[in-house]
Amino acid sequence: MLKRLDELQDQALKQVEQAADSAALAQVESAYTGKKGEITTVLRSIGTLPADERKAVGEKANVVKQAVDAAIASRADALKASELGAAMQAGAIDVTLPGRPLPVGRIHPANQTLRELAAIWAEMGFQVYRSRDVEDDDTNFTLLNLPPHHPARDMWDTFHTTQPGVLLRTHTSPGQIHAMRQYAPEPIRIILPGMCYRYEQVSARSEVQFNQLEGLAVGYNIHMTDLKGTIVAFARRMFGEKVAVRFRSSHFPFTEPSIEVDVECFLCGGEGCAVCKKTGWLEIAGAGMVHPVVLKNGGYDPSKFSGFAFGMGPERMTMLRHGITDIRYFWGNDPRFLEQF
Ligand SMILES: [Zn+2]
Repeated sequence: MLKRLDELQDQALKQVEQAADSAALAQVESAYTGKKGEITTVLRSIGTLPADERKAVGEKANVVKQAVDAAIASRADALKASELGAAMQAGAIDVTLPGRPLPVGRIHPANQTLRELAAIWAEMGFQVYRSRDVEDDDTNFTLLNLPPHHPARDMWDTFHTTQPGVLLRTHTSPGQIHAMRQYAPEPIRIILPGMCYRYEQVSARSEVQFNQLEGLAVGYNIHMTDLKGTIVAFARRMFGEKVAVRFRSSHFPFTEPSIEVDVECFLCGGEGCAVCKKTGWLEIAGAGMVHPVVLKNGGYDPSKFSGFAFGMGPERMTMLRHGITDIRYFWGNDPRFLEQF
């Protein structure tokens, strides 16, 4: 039996050495030291041997088993290393290849303009005041000096909700009422940016939703000259130090007097081009002195307080700047448009 064990050891070690891969090695292991392996069988049969042989055979079998186990373990390590090397060779990665580009998000062109406007007005001391998109009829119209019978209401086709008197704001001006009622009788210097909604036929020139940026200053001794100076200072920051600004008289129900503001066309420098329709001027804002009725509705005494307000369209400004001819691009969610900015 001892001789048989020597033979098994020799055979096993030889086969371990010859095993070409992990699978072959596993077969050798199962043939000798596995559950039904030959060395295992010898170890199990020790009980059946004559008593005087048991000790010697037992010791020898254990030595053989340990030797074979050790050889298998070391061969397994070696095979694993060489198999890993081969796998890496076969599936080699070229680390110098450029990676796959990840799409980078960006800020919507209208929001880019809004942020730029907010930064300029912040420099000039105007805080952002957020107001709601859903309004009541009173705040959107009546308190802004647009009573129910007022013909100017026809200018704004309104989205009404199923709840009578509740609508989507047609302009950012109702925010003026909220701000004044919150701050009166303190002075105010704010801008009110946000989305407005009008029930319009969607075309290249008009959309059912668009941003406005409104400004409001209320305090003592605020005059038309303050409004004009403020607008000019803004235009220089936005369009360049040398830009010319022009004021035309106009009418809005919530300001008196009212003006419209043009800047020298920044595309042609005032020479006249297709965008400025050969006039050399671009309209950028409507403005005026806050109407006494509006001041009163906001909680200020119009005999002591005065103020000015202005409103501009970030999309329109973006269109002028980039020569965009169709406002529908803004909310069309077409990456071919959005990725250009
Ligand atoms: Zn022009």
